[in-house]
Amino acid sequence: MEIRFLGGVREVGRSAILVNDRLLLDYGVKSGSPPQYPGDVDPEAVVVSHGHLDHVGAVPSLLSGDARPPIHWTPPTRELALVLARDTLQLHGGTLQCPFTETDVQRVTQVSETHGYREPFEAAGHEVTFFDAGHIPGSAHVLVDDGETRLLYTGDFHTADQQLVSGTTARPDADVVICESTYSDVDHADRATVEAQFIESVETTLWEGGTVVIPAFAIGRTQEMLLLCADHDVPCYVDGMGKRITKLLRRYPDYVRDADALRRAKSHARFVTGRDGQRKRIADRNAAIITTSGMLHGGPAMTYVPAVRSHPTNKITLTGYQVEGTPGRDLLETGSAEIDGRTMPVSAQVEQYDFSAHADRDGVLAFLESYRDSELLVGHGDRCEAFAEELRADGFEASAPELGDRWER
Ligand SMILES: [Zn+2]
Repeated sequence: MEIRFLGGVREVGRSAILVNDRLLLDYGVKSGSPPQYPGDVDPEAVVVSHGHLDHVGAVPSLLSGDARPPIHWTPPTRELALVLARDTLQLHGGTLQCPFTETDVQRVTQVSETHGYREPFEAAGHEVTFFDAGHIPGSAHVLVDDGETRLLYTGDFHTADQQLVSGTTARPDADVVICESTYSDVDHADRATVEAQFIESVETTLWEGGTVVIPAFAIGRTQEMLLLCADHDVPCYVDGMGKRITKLLRRYPDYVRDADALRRAKSHARFVTGRDGQRKRIADRNAAIITTSGMLHGGPAMTYVPAVRSHPTNKITLTGYQVEGTPGRDLLETGSAEIDGRTMPVSAQVEQYDFSAHADRDGVLAFLESYRDSELLVGHGDRCEAFAEELRADGFEASAPELGDRWER
C-alpha cells in the first residue's frame, strides 16, 4: 500500500489522503482568508469520513472537470456535505473563496453512493468499511483493505458519549492507522460536570432576568445544546444554520443516540424566522438563544451579541474551541470583539465551556491501546510530531507525516 498525504497533517483543516494513487479519503477546506485547499488530485473514487468543512468542503471541486469519481459516505454525511456546499456557494460563489460551482454540486448528487456502518463496499479496487466514530451523526472510521494491507483512517472521533451521539466502540484490526490528534495534550473535564455547570450558569442568568446567547456550531453542537435545554426545561430559541441541520438530522434517527430525545428537543425549542425584527425582540427575552456562528464571525449571532452586550445581567456562553483571530477568541481574551466591522466592548458576562466532540489525550491513548501492533501515522493536530514522539516513548511505532509525504510498505 502507498499513502500520500495531501493535507491535514501537522495541521487541522483540508484533510486529504490518497491511497494507492486511486482512492481519496476526505477532501476538505482549511477555513481562513484566503481558505486553503489540498493539492490537485484525480482519484478513481472518493470516501468521506464525516460532514465537517475540513473533511468535505472541497469535494464538489473534484467534479469540475470531466472526471466523475463516485463519492462514498454515510447518508447523513451526504446531506451535511450538500448543505455545506450550498452554504459556501451562497456566501462565496464566484470568488476564490469557493472552488466549485452550482453545477459541480449537482454532480455530487449524481455520483453519490451511501453506505451504513459495518457494510463493506468496493471503491477503486479496495474493500472499504465504515465504523461509527462517535464524533457527529454519520461520522465514520474508514477501514481500507487493498488485499495486502489494512489501513484504518480514524477520521475525527470521540471515545466518550455526547448527548447527540454515543462514543466510538469499534476497533477493527488494521496494519496501519492514521489517527487524528486534535487534543493530544488536552484533558477534557468530565462531560456530565461540564453540562451541570453550563445549565446552572444559564439558569442563574435567567432567574436574574437576563438573556443568554449561546453561540454554537451548526453541526452537532447546536443539537447538543438543544438536547441539554430540553432536558432541563430551559426556555430556548434556535437560530442560524443550526435550524436546518437540526431538521436534517431528525431524518436520520439511526445515526443519533436517542432519536426520541432529539424529537423532543426540536419541539421544545422555538425556531427563529428572523422576520420583522424578531431577533431584536428575542434578545430582550428571558431565554437562551442558541445561534451560529460558534466563533462569532457571522450568522445571527451578529445581531444577538450587540443586542445583549451592554447589560451585565446578560451572558454569552461560548461552547467550543475559539480559533485564534476569531471574534470569539478576542472576546474571551480582551472583553471586546469586532462584530460586523465595529469593535464592541462587552459588559455582559462571557464564559466558555468545553463541549468537545473529539477524544482528549486519554481518549486517543485508550483508542490506540488496541493498535499496539500496528504502525501509527499521526495527523490532524497542531503538535503531531510531539505526540508521535510520546507514542514512540510508550513503545508504539509512530510517526507524523508531513504535507506531501509518501508512506509505503
Ligand atoms: Zn470533524
